[in-house]
Amino acid sequence: MSSGGVARVFRGAFAHSTRDSVLSVHPDFVLGVNEQGKIVFFEDGTNVESLSHQWGFETSDIELLAPHEFFMPGMVDTHIHAPQYAYTGTHLDLPLLDWLNRYTFPVESCYVDLDFAQDIYTKVVKRTLCNGTTTACYFATIHTEASLLLGQIADDFGQRALIGKVCMDQNSMVPNYKEQTDECKDETDRFIHELLKKKYALVKPIVTPRFAISCSSSLLSDLGKIAKNNDLHIQSHISENKEEVQLVKELFPDCTSYTDVYLKHGLLTDKTVMAHGCYLTDEELMIFHEKGAAVSHCPNSNISLISGFLNVRNVLKHKVKLGLGTDVAGGYSPSMLDAIRRAMDTSKALCIQDAQLQPLSYKEAFRLATLGGSEVLSLDDCTGNFEVGKDFDALRVNICVPGSPIDLFPRDDLEVILEKFLNLGDDRNIVKVYVAGKQVVPFS
Ligand SMILES: [Zn+2]
Repeated sequence: MSSGGVARVFRGAFAHSTRDSVLSVHPDFVLGVNEQGKIVFFEDGTNVESLSHQWGFETSDIELLAPHEFFMPGMVDTHIHAPQYAYTGTHLDLPLLDWLNRYTFPVESCYVDLDFAQDIYTKVVKRTLCNGTTTACYFATIHTEASLLLGQIADDFGQRALIGKVCMDQNSMVPNYKEQTDECKDETDRFIHELLKKKYALVKPIVTPRFAISCSSSLLSDLGKIAKNNDLHIQSHISENKEEVQLVKELFPDCTSYTDVYLKHGLLTDKTVMAHGCYLTDEELMIFHEKGAAVSHCPNSNISLISGFLNVRNVLKHKVKLGLGTDVAGGYSPSMLDAIRRAMDTSKALCIQDAQLQPLSYKEAFRLATLGGSEVLSLDDCTGNFEVGKDFDALRVNICVPGSPIDLFPRDDLEVILEKFLNLGDDRNIVKVYVAGKQVVPFS
């Protein structure tokens, strides 16, 4: 656009969450993005003349949004299994542990084949980007090469991503899908080293013990040390299903709780995200809060695999960082809009059981899917909303595209338009997706 340090300027409606407000709407704001993709100003539209002088852009170069369009922050999927995208929307007839043995482990073991991995990983990155996931926290498989390939594909398409090579040295049901303890540690070191060597701007490794049941105590300790020595993120699963919680108790008799298993092995840090947590006790939530560890709420999966209901209110009451995840393919939808809807459904189901509870509002669910997710992944310094200095990770939403699933009425204001989009919209309404200032959807 110009040499004044601003590459693009947008004017129109914006909706985002801030530290102090679950939803802040601005019907007429102007936002500038610099060459590095960072937001350099975000101000009321009436300031446009002074901003154009200050930043040296022509007002004629501003990209104007239509009245039925708005920008919202890109969504953060805090928990998704890329390899399981191969069977998304199917295989939802078994509870967690049987489901893993029958469907998941046999499919994940196929990712030793890089052609197979290339096909599925390309599709999952494209599908999630189209649905507005600008940041994804991925589980891959135990295979180092395929996990590196997932990182390359995310980088190619411009998605912000944490990539986890899955670590597991225990698997009695599908014995060919595991590694020896030393091999797993060495391959994790190699994966981290190789991925960091690529110097991708937006794609980083995350230490990924599958869950306590799949890992020996020795492996968990090694992974805790690897995360600490490299200052890396950590992801795993916790307290998803009652049978699993019981089994962990039997496998780790020296630990006082499931949370204690991860705590004792150095895996509960302020860069840890644990999926599910349906059965975490108040004492465990207090440990999460003290450590700064986060929970990824995956409501579609929790219902689809008949796992449980996370009481979101109670997690928030304990001031534990909380975001949403699709948990593909335990969750059958790769869309974070679905995660928002299922989070509200789960909250309402709990309210039916306990009239004292307050249901989650759409505004709160919106915050969890955007800023909340960025906090969960400790990326809230660079994404999650439109604060000046952050990267421009954004969705341009158009309610009136041809074939739109949403009808607009004359009295619908910006808040109504946003609520309709969250409840009724889909990828047809997400006309453009930006990550770090770069347009990544439509695909170039
Ligand atoms: Zn999962």
